[in-house]
Amino acid sequence: MTQNAANHSDSSITSTKLYEQHSSTSSAIAQAQSSVDVLIIGAGASGLYCAMTAAQRGRSVLVIDHANKAGKKILMSGGGRCNFTNYVVEPENFIGENAHFCKSALTRYNPWEFIGLVEKHGVPYHERDYSQLFCDNSSKDILNLLLDECAEAGAKVQLKTDIVAIKPLANDSDQGFIVETSKGTIYCHSLVIATGGLSIPTMGATGFGYEVAQQFGHQIIATSAGLVPFTFTDKVGDMIASLAGISLDVIAFNERISFPRPMLFTHRGLSGPAMLQLSNYWQLGESIHINLVPNVDIGELLIEAKAYHPKQLIRSVLSEYFPKKLLLALQDLHWSDFKDKELANIKDEALITIGDKINNWTIKPSGTEGYRTAEVTRGGVNTDEVSSKTFESKLQPNLYFIGEVLDVTGWLGGYNFQWAWASGKACGEVV
Ligand SMILES: Cc1cc2nc3c(=O)[nH]c(=O)nc-3n(C[C@H](O)[C@H](O)[C@H](O)COP(=O)(O)OP(=O)(O)OC[C@H]3O[C@@H](n4cnc5c(N)ncnc54)[C@H](O)[C@@H]3O)c2cc1C
Repeated sequence: MTQNAANHSDSSITSTKLYEQHSSTSSAIAQAQSSVDVLIIGAGASGLYCAMTAAQRGRSVLVIDHANKAGKKILMSGGGRCNFTNYVVEPENFIGENAHFCKSALTRYNPWEFIGLVEKHGVPYHERDYSQLFCDNSSKDILNLLLDECAEAGAKVQLKTDIVAIKPLANDSDQGFIVETSKGTIYCHSLVIATGGLSIPTMGATGFGYEVAQQFGHQIIATSAGLVPFTFTDKVGDMIASLAGISLDVIAFNERISFPRPMLFTHRGLSGPAMLQLSNYWQLGESIHINLVPNVDIGELLIEAKAYHPKQLIRSVLSEYFPKKLLLALQDLHWSDFKDKELANIKDEALITIGDKINNWTIKPSGTEGYRTAEVTRGGVNTDEVSSKTFESKLQPNLYFIGEVLDVTGWLGGYNFQWAWASGKACGEVV
């Protein structure tokens, strides 16, 4: 499915007037207040990695960002400790309409390359569940590492700068760009769009990259919030809210995928890694399934308990698996008719049905918390129109798209940064 960036209802999308072709190449270049080989818009994860890579090759590089600080999402990532990569990175950890697109860059940039950089800068780190790597101290270490590498290689970062217009030059031999900014006009040979996705608008996220892409004829795969908590209404919503703060290990699944991970009840709905992961594979209107006690067939367990302890109640059998508050809420929801009945007086079929509700709790989210809290944006620039090797637009020479602005979305676990580094590096090697 495609959509026009202009159709986004999200008000965070900037409306930059622009993009008519510049008529006179030489006079435009002469009039520009500064000139660089590579101009990168977006001083986030992918933009900074691209900048240091290109500058290390001797290219003159300028990174501009409208925010007052570089890498704000890096700073807030991983709960302040930046889950910067994962020991195990496979194409299957990423979604997008073209599942093959991410393979080339990921193969050429494995996690060890970033780990090498982390070690070179003496950043202490540790491994957590599912091979995730986090800083011991602070996400700041990762941002400083990138800024130090940029500074050492000579790439400049200019903040608080808005883009006013982008004009491609109409000269066959040098199809660069004139970029008008709030701080002057810049000529560049290569223009890299690294402006990320729509999540967390308060951190500077905008739909700018989609707008630029569309103006150059690119299609945008419909965007939506990813790695985001689910929300619920009605009775289930009330029940979930009443359990806020409780977390347990579950398997969250649907017809396409399953994730054995912790789940967290919150005042707004269901969160935690299991839910965030599943949200990447969820469409509005679909149900989700949760196995609340993985590895135990609760129907069988209840029938066995009936044979050996016929006077027991269902809640006594299940008490070792749930905190009391959750157990009582599940009782209200799934076996209120049997709550004070001894197992001996409950038919096996009913016990199996109750077991199924525990092992396969099926609920329909009313939605998600949206971009306000989402870690990523699903969808983005259609990757069929971008080179998977160089990240150059197939529609406009010397225009590049990297990072989250593309229709490539990673799992929770360091995959989105790995994509930012890998795409930034591949692009930085050719611009
Ligand atoms: C709360 C949170 C936690 C996360 N934790 C992790 C984690 O631990 N591990 C992981 O792998 N991923 C994590 N992510 C995802 C990860 O941060 C992103 O996928 C990654 O930063 C994308 O890199 P990027 O370079 O494409 O975009 P970004 O890092 O978002 O950078 C985009 C830059 O472009 C700038 N920009 C936007 N619009 C404009 C404009 N109009 N003009 C000029 N500049 C503009 C922005 O200010 C920003 O600096 C997290 C995300 C969030 C929101």
